[in-house]
Amino acid sequence: AKTAEPGTVAFFDAPMHVSALRRTALANELDQGLRENQFELQYQPIVNLASGRTDRFEALVRWRHPERGQLLPDEFLPSMEDTGLIVQLGHWVMAEVCRQLVEWGPEVVSVSVNISDKEFWSQDLLTRVLATVGRHGLAPDRITLEITESVLMRRPELALRLMQKMHEAGLRLHIDDFGTGYSSLETLHRFPVDAFKIDRSFIRTLTSSDNSVELISALVKLGKALGIAVVAEGVETGEQLEFLQEIGCATGQGYLFMPAVAGDRVAELLGHSLHA
Ligand code: C2E
Ligand code: CA
Ligand code: CA
Ligand code: CA
Repeated sequence: AKTAEPGTVAFFDAPMHVSALRRTALANELDQGLRENQFELQYQPIVNLASGRTDRFEALVRWRHPERGQLLPDEFLPSMEDTGLIVQLGHWVMAEVCRQLVEWGPEVVSVSVNISDKEFWSQDLLTRVLATVGRHGLAPDRITLEITESVLMRRPELALRLMQKMHEAGLRLHIDDFGTGYSSLETLHRFPVDAFKIDRSFIRTLTSSDNSVELISALVKLGKALGIAVVAEGVETGEQLEFLQEIGCATGQGYLFMPAVAGDRVAELLGHSLHA
């Protein structure tokens, strides 16, 4: 950016100007969207692969945009992440999950909330989460934070300290998209995590590639050795389910069981087997 001379109009670099404009426009849309209840959470069951039952869910955000129709996260989260607005959306997500947990009652053991890069590194994440959880009269372990491996690996030492504080506060912690971020074993086993989620890309290639068979088996063994639960993402076929059951993978998520559904459908899912 150029420095403005006294008495002249300041000129900004074009990209900066554009992104400032874009941020303002998006911020207005986000504010309006939040005020007018355009955002909605859907919940995907995390299923016990042996019994087919569920008592945990992952919250996934949708935007019912007045002009553009229903938007999926990939369509609006990247620009919210770039502009930092995701932090504001994250506050809404956390409050809405807590409200929903109170409505469902204790049969829903915990809800997983995705934490973006910007949110994870923001100063007051832990304080805010605990305040929101406390305001709703919930125990912190009713909330599970899902943090991607690549976010953690940006600054592993600092991430470890942050995660230790979150763990001590009683929050549950899951590593999301595991297998895509090149973390070392040594790093992994120091993190106070309850589970890691094997990225969908590995499950998808299960039937076509011997590599992913070996890799997934190794990850499940690793989880057992470290005493960390393993969740397989993106289970779509009976064949994939059978393989995961054979190697002793305890939990999974995927369209085979159920896509994310509205909060008012969750009660009817509890206590039933979701095996096809
Ligand atoms: P993710 O955390 O890896 O979430 C899993 C994504 O896989 C979800 O997409 C889910 O609908 C989809 N999925 C579940 N089962 C299957 C399956 O069997 N096959 C296939 N092909 N896909 C499946 P969705 O809802 O579009 O979310 C995309 C990403 O957006 C999420 O990836 C997460 O990173 C992010 N996200 C979603 N909600 C939030 C949120 O509230 N906050 C933040 N920060 N990020 C969110
Ligand atoms: Ca996730
Ligand atoms: Ca994931
Ligand atoms: Ca993902």
